[in-house]
Amino acid sequence: LRGVVALDGPSGTGKSTVSRKLASALGATYLDTGAMYRAATLAVLRAEVEPSDSAEVARVVRAAALIVGTDPERPSVSLDGADVGQEIRGPEVTGAVSAVSAVAEVREQLVAQQRRLIGEALESPGGMVVEGRDIGTVVVPDAGLKVYLTASAHARAQRRTAQDVSEGRAGDLDRTHADVQRRDALDSGRKVAPLRKADDAVELDTTDLGVVEVLEQLHKHVES
Ligand code: C5P
Repeated sequence: LRGVVALDGPSGTGKSTVSRKLASALGATYLDTGAMYRAATLAVLRAEVEPSDSAEVARVVRAAALIVGTDPERPSVSLDGADVGQEIRGPEVTGAVSAVSAVAEVREQLVAQQRRLIGEALESPGGMVVEGRDIGTVVVPDAGLKVYLTASAHARAQRRTAQDVSEGRAGDLDRTHADVQRRDALDSGRKVAPLRKADDAVELDTTDLGVVEVLEQLHKHVES
């Protein structure tokens, strides 16, 4: 799928920021698959189901009406008709999302929905920038460009903390550092679609790069 740019990597690598900016610059649409796993997790928490109960988790996610917008200027996600863009970034969802996203049936459902959205997006010109953990490996293995973003755990924790503060949440560097490492271990260690670089992905270490520099690199790869 030539029109798809797949951007994968762990949290705090700057993936969301650069994905949205790249999509805007290319006149492409944008899909935040992490927001989908987060909204599914919110549904599970609201139903008061244990994230470790995979059968119940799968049932709740199947019944949830999860809608995600694809405009890079106004990313949106709603659950059962109400906007949940703020709530899915809170500590409860962040604490449970790796367990929910490790459930095979949840991934099947969300990957199917992602592929539908990507198929629809590719009907219009401009293509789509898709960000997540398994886009280049599972969701769109034939994407035109695959990028795997990395950064040191310290840099990633710092970015996540700065983002929390700028969005009005409490910033706690130690707690965020621990959370980043915990999620990395869970996301990389799970059986289904573990976080890993696709063999043919370009790897970009963003530890010492600003957003503008990362975007410059991405534009070079898009053009080549
Ligand atoms: O990107 P973000 O930090 O919002 O993703 C939240 C979580 O959703 C990740 O830690 C991971 O457990 C899960 N996820 C996933 N596959 C994706 C995107 C996100 O498993 N494609």
